[in-house]
Amino acid sequence: MARAVRKGDSESMGEEFGDVLAWLCTLASIHGVELEEAVGKYAAGCPKCGGTPCECEEGEAR
Ligand SMILES: [Zn+2]
Repeated sequence: MARAVRKGDSESMGEEFGDVLAWLCTLASIHGVELEEAVGKYAAGCPKCGGTPCECEEGEAR
């Protein structure tokens, strides 16, 4: 995946992200983690600023 990102190849990037996502789902279920729950934390926006996408400025202390 990192190789595809570096190359900026969006087609293979989509493929690679799919692979990573599938791997993540498998790993999560092995450890009994509900991925939906984890994703749901951010579904309503950033827990910090409530923005989607996150509007937190990096390095900004609030
Ligand atoms: Zn934020």
